[in-house]
Amino acid sequence: MLKQAQDTLKHIFGYDSFRGQQLAIIEHVTQGGDALVLMPTGGGKSLCYQIPALLRDGVTVVVSPLIALMQDQVSALEELGITAAALNSSLDHEQQRQIANRLRQGDIKLLYLAPERLLQPRMLAFLQQLKVGLFAIDEAHCVSQWGHDFRPEYLALSQLAELFPDVPRIALTATADGRTQQEIIERLHLQQAKQFLSSFDRPNIYYQIVTKDNPRQQLLNFLAPHKGDAGIVYCMSRKKVEEYAQYLSERGYPALPYHAGLDNQLRAFNQQRFLNEEGLIMVATIAFGMGIDKPNVRFVAHMDLPKSLEAYYQETGRAGRDGLPAQAWMAYGLQDIVWLKKMLTESEGDEQHKRVEQHKLDSMLALCEEARCRRQALLGYFDEVLKQPCGHCDNCVDKVQTWDATEAARKALSTIYRTGQSYGVGYLVDVLLGRDNERIQNNGHQRLSVYGLGKGIDENEWRTLFRQLIARGYVDVDIEGFNGLRLSEKCRDLLKGQEQLLLRKEQVSPRKPQQTSSASQLVRAHERDMWENLRALRKQLAQEHAVPPYVIFPDSTLLEMLRSQPQDMSDMAAISGVGARKLERYGDVFLKVLQGQTAQAPTHNVSDLNHELVTLARSGMTPSQMAQQLNCSEKSIYSLMAQVIAAGQLSLEQALDLPWEIVEQIQDAFLDGDGELPSVSQLQKMHNFSVDEGVLHCVRAALKLEFGQI
Ligand code: ADP
Ligand code: ZN
Repeated sequence: MLKQAQDTLKHIFGYDSFRGQQLAIIEHVTQGGDALVLMPTGGGKSLCYQIPALLRDGVTVVVSPLIALMQDQVSALEELGITAAALNSSLDHEQQRQIANRLRQGDIKLLYLAPERLLQPRMLAFLQQLKVGLFAIDEAHCVSQWGHDFRPEYLALSQLAELFPDVPRIALTATADGRTQQEIIERLHLQQAKQFLSSFDRPNIYYQIVTKDNPRQQLLNFLAPHKGDAGIVYCMSRKKVEEYAQYLSERGYPALPYHAGLDNQLRAFNQQRFLNEEGLIMVATIAFGMGIDKPNVRFVAHMDLPKSLEAYYQETGRAGRDGLPAQAWMAYGLQDIVWLKKMLTESEGDEQHKRVEQHKLDSMLALCEEARCRRQALLGYFDEVLKQPCGHCDNCVDKVQTWDATEAARKALSTIYRTGQSYGVGYLVDVLLGRDNERIQNNGHQRLSVYGLGKGIDENEWRTLFRQLIARGYVDVDIEGFNGLRLSEKCRDLLKGQEQLLLRKEQVSPRKPQQTSSASQLVRAHERDMWENLRALRKQLAQEHAVPPYVIFPDSTLLEMLRSQPQDMSDMAAISGVGARKLERYGDVFLKVLQGQTAQAPTHNVSDLNHELVTLARSGMTPSQMAQQLNCSEKSIYSLMAQVIAAGQLSLEQALDLPWEIVEQIQDAFLDGDGELPSVSQLQKMHNFSVDEGVLHCVRAALKLEFGQI
């Protein structure tokens, strides 16, 4: 059994080892047990039913709410040489009849169905005549009213337990919260099922939350290192989706809009393009995303605050399914809070429901204002304990300072109180700073004891403080009025001096450069041409086979080909993601492309190489380290450096790794004579410096730039 599972993994899927609990799940289900599988996005849930489907007799019925994506899943399986089909309303009569025939003949191992289709009496009767080996219920959280993807059709799936008592069922979801899990068990009658819980951590995602000041520019800055990458930008409103899609496209980032207000066909078309093309950005409302299994989404950016941590986790989770580095970035500000509170106040539903929603929003806000590790806080919300700070989020990388804001908060609260609890942040800050304006004069607020009491803190800091007080629930916003601030119950202890308040300090200077995560950055300069060749071949094959490129091979497989340089088909078979069928179909064409490189010297794209060199030198690498990194001689590094120095792209200090006195001696020697700068070899004849000759070239280049041709 173990051996069979392992052989299938290697032979069919091309992978060497199981991840996490995959093997335990596969064994349990293959032997006929029911299972509830909770695993994060990208954890590898599909294999948990696909391998049992191959190992058990009969057809495995996969229930999924995502009709639009079923065909992609079927094609992906066919690429692996597995027989699969999807029955849905887009097929004509003849096509449906053919599938039914193949099912009768036992010629289909996996059948994809939407729940409403499965539960049609005719369908159920038909399946009862066949041998069903397994039911897999994907996106099982859709059965829960608590979550935000509720599908009423899912409720009727409870019938399967009675109608097919001997057929095991496996329910899978990436939703982490306990209440949803409980509902899945009850509503799908999975009380007897074995539960497989995984950690919900997504270690390859880098989390970052910034304070919104100029959101468009901030987004562009975030995107700059992501040129050519696929990603999702979430916005709250349809209008904003349209605006941002246009804005990004105009600035050289190809972007498409997606929201529920678009014509169905256009929406489906945009989604298809996002899946099939490389490097597109989808600007979308939350209507977009469930079931999008594009593995190489390199970033998810939020321009507005999601209304709960569940939503944030799910949406950011769409990045980096392939396990390669990915980024979750969000810009957040006071307006977000006000807007969401307004939505909540205006929403329908009873008091209890609103309290729950309020609690969810408060947890989301707490993450934004968090000063400690974001990942610890996020996982903590889902009751998972991460013992150490993760080292891979903004707060870990760029240690956040906190300050004792107790005194300042008390001043802010008194100002709200003394001005009558009806003014917005701008006005309150004016009073605190003792500004002289007409409105204050008219209200007589210049006579208040708090007037001018806050001069020790600047305007931005006060604004931040008010936002933090609102986010933490010390202050309410009067949504029905004019967004005036009011004291809440919670602030009493703080006012009385019985509570201390530590708040995160806003970062004034821009944060450190982001970690590299873009696929194009994972590829080094000297590999880039070959990488593009491999991608071009993949794209061509994808078009021929009418599947998205990642179905041919994911990026991770292409990267491995690039790095491990397979020489023949058996090397090729050893690469992760190359199963028997794909080896047979694509092995030799990819080998040919790869051998194109081994035959020739690697060709460098000059401007890329220069750019990379400058980046590496600025990051503090020594010439010998750079030579290693770029896979060329130190001599070439020096001669390239001399070029970029002469072009003014790199300073001498950044380039050289030498005591500065020595550099000065060399400079003096060059400038000793009058008239033209001596050449490097002339200089060496006179002085015989014991440094690499490349150093002299660099110094000379810098002098030439500084003084022109002397
Ligand atoms: P999920 O449905 O949990 O989001 P998928 O089943 O789509 O995740 O798997 C995510 C990616 O990881 C896919 O590209 C899949 O082929 C790959 N994968 C799954 N299991 C393994 C494994 N054991 N070894 C290598 N890659 C795997
Ligand atoms: Zn962290």
